[in-house]
Amino acid sequence: MIKSLAVLGSTGSIGVQALEVARLHNLKIEALTVGSRIDILENQIREFLPAVAAVADENAAKELRIKVADTPTKILSGADGVAECAACGAESVLNSIVGIAGLAPTVAAIEAGSDIALANKETLVAGGKFVMSLAKEKGVSILPVDSEHSAIFQSLQGCADKKQIKKLILTASGGPFFGRKKEELENVTLEQALNHPNWSMGAKITIDSATMMNKGLELIEAAWLFDMPAKDIDIVVHRQSIVHSLVEYSDNSVIAQLGVPDMRIPIQYALTYPDRFESPVRQLDLTEFGTLTFEKPDYETFVCINLCRRSFEKGGLYPAAVNAANEKANELFRQGKIGFLDIARAVSHALETAPQNDDYSLGDVFETDRLIRSQTERLFL
Ligand code: NDP
Ligand code: MG
Repeated sequence: MIKSLAVLGSTGSIGVQALEVARLHNLKIEALTVGSRIDILENQIREFLPAVAAVADENAAKELRIKVADTPTKILSGADGVAECAACGAESVLNSIVGIAGLAPTVAAIEAGSDIALANKETLVAGGKFVMSLAKEKGVSILPVDSEHSAIFQSLQGCADKKQIKKLILTASGGPFFGRKKEELENVTLEQALNHPNWSMGAKITIDSATMMNKGLELIEAAWLFDMPAKDIDIVVHRQSIVHSLVEYSDNSVIAQLGVPDMRIPIQYALTYPDRFESPVRQLDLTEFGTLTFEKPDYETFVCINLCRRSFEKGGLYPAAVNAANEKANELFRQGKIGFLDIARAVSHALETAPQNDDYSLGDVFETDRLIRSQTERLFL
């Protein structure tokens, strides 16, 4: 098992659970980073005494520096400070920052030679080409934290030849609006959209689950992580979130990973791979669930899934564009400024208007992100 870890986004839903796993296994925490919630970070600093920590918000960083002056932890600030923490050289860097803000830190951590435990899926959606090739060049592993991708990764253990993989099958809970038609979603409230049936997560991904954009982002994430064409990645709605995803092999044998819906299993596996250790997660009792169901997604209502699929097939900057439109529209919806279906409208608009460029740089990814965000804002305001 690794001995040292940096947690980026340590105050979030995944970050807090990652620290719980670290505590259980006595991992040395080298660095912690957050956006602005310094009260929680202060407690984490006092418990784990990392050499360095960063706060993206400059003013909050100043305040924290005073609060933890009695500790050995050096406090950095801004996006550069976060990237510097990512490059601290820990054996593994767990990236659970939300959104495109996670991309530069992922790149910085790979450059520094750390393995990546990746929760921040937007990193791969927008910058997959660069992240995967840089990881290969530096000889670092990208281990998935996202539960579906961890399930696929686990189901791939023992597969000697990639050619024997026929299909990846991602399961989706369907979110809070499963079974509803588009007309019924026009006026849903933020509170209804935040009411996820199986998982307790950060606000952005919870809304992504309600629109099922999350499954589209995950399709792109899987395509990059496992080097599979989008046409060989299927999506199945599985309401109980017990079967976390599956791999179909050339002999039509299907291997899946199961467990109760609890992120601490995939988080821990990304830190202990290839070994397994005890975890705080409760055992799966299949008889408690009795029936597991599997259904086709309603692509007419949850259009974001296929908008993502199409963006990946078009290639270039299209995935970065749909990701940016979604991030902005998701935020506007959470601020009560646009309706629920406007999120899909923004994503669709980005797919139509994104700059076409197959020979793009990482700088172009950030530029497209900025461009599509402001375009999305103008679309509604
Ligand atoms: P949260 O919103 O709970 O946490 C996000 C974290 O990122 C917080 O620590 C936040 O700091 C930090 N952050 C926010 N903005 C910035 C910024 N600009 N720069 C640096 N840090 C920032 O999100 P989740 O934990 O739910 O999700 C994190 C990632 O993991 C997402 O990409 C999500 O898709 C993915 N994921 C999450 C799952 C889950 O169960 N939650 C499951 C699978 C994937 P602060 O608290 O100070 O704002
Ligand atoms: Mg997931």
